[in-house]
Amino acid sequence: MSENVVIVGSGPAGWSAAIYCARANLKPLVFEGALTEENQINGTLPLGQLNLTTEVENYAGFPSANLDQFLDTALDKNERMLLPPSEGKHAVTGPELMHLMRQQARNFGTRIVTDDVARLDLSTRPFKVYPLEGEPLEAKAIIIATGARANYLGLESEAKYKNRGVSACAVCDGALPMFRNQPLVVVGGGDSAVEEATYLTNFASRVYLIHRRDTLRASKIMADRATRNEKIEIVWNHQVVEVLGDETKVTGVRLENTVDGSHRELACGGMFAAIGHTPNTSFLKGQVETNEAGYIRWVKPFRTWTSVEGVFAAGDVADDYYRQAITSAGTGCMAALDAERWLAAQH
Ligand code: NAP
Repeated sequence: MSENVVIVGSGPAGWSAAIYCARANLKPLVFEGALTEENQINGTLPLGQLNLTTEVENYAGFPSANLDQFLDTALDKNERMLLPPSEGKHAVTGPELMHLMRQQARNFGTRIVTDDVARLDLSTRPFKVYPLEGEPLEAKAIIIATGARANYLGLESEAKYKNRGVSACAVCDGALPMFRNQPLVVVGGGDSAVEEATYLTNFASRVYLIHRRDTLRASKIMADRATRNEKIEIVWNHQVVEVLGDETKVTGVRLENTVDGSHRELACGGMFAAIGHTPNTSFLKGQVETNEAGYIRWVKPFRTWTSVEGVFAAGDVADDYYRQAITSAGTGCMAALDAERWLAAQH
């Protein structure tokens, strides 16, 4: 028997889609991702990018509070045990938010498989879903919510200080106390880098924008904004070759001049990588239309329809612009409603 809706991905888009599908009696099945070493390295483990962040201060509905008691009652005991106690915390953390969303989806009857979808066959109806482990199954509709992963420089020292001063999201992490009133480094020369650098000037004493060339890739208007901002200093023709720290936090970066190869150190309290994102679409093997950057294309305005009828996309996998938890959740809801209406029209 075919599944009504298979949801691939377990970030805010996946769980929001699951909550809406479950409440529409579609009995959704979510592939939340596999606990593999490869996913660990790629930053694509279950619960998505938010599960890799610290506090989430910009998701509406979770004002500053100690949420321990709420988490104790809201989550199943074994799920609760996965989360550290949040004493002294001021906002919900990414992992807490994701476990709460997952629980909410389960409460309405969502079934969850802790595995990756290795491959889909979208050329037949119903669609064929091939998990990494286990038997293939069939689905009448599919919602793809596999997200995107931030690109990092790939340095060992960078990985060591992730969540301890190294981040790839200024909007998510920039306002954290550890980044306030000190010099910060942003790596990259595109619109994201300029935007992140500008945003970080709200908190930092100074922002160094490290770019490997002598011209920005960013649009003129964004580039002008950065060059006019007195708090931003662009360090041209340099790349970060090492993140320096005292074991608990970032204290600086080692830079290499891309023209003459010379090295120098720059003191800072944090480093933000803004060198692009990679959407998690390789399992689709080109069966769904994407834009030039590889993000799934919505083929109808204000709908989550993809180029394959019956396949919907939600969250960062189809969004290279907003990339926020709350926008992902919103498009997850849209994809569920689109799938529900499309399925109804089929019968
Ligand atoms: P992007 O345009 O691809 O820029 C990536 C930047 O990172 C480039 O400057 C690139 O250098 C640099 N880079 C890449 N790999 C690197 C490495 N290993 N080491 C050092 N530097 C590296 O990505 P993006 O800035 O995330 O923008 C993505 C898309 O979103 C763009 O279309 C952008 O216009 C759009 N966007 C728009 C806005 C806005 O309008 N407000 C805001 C953000 C993003 P090179 O220049 O040397 O290649």
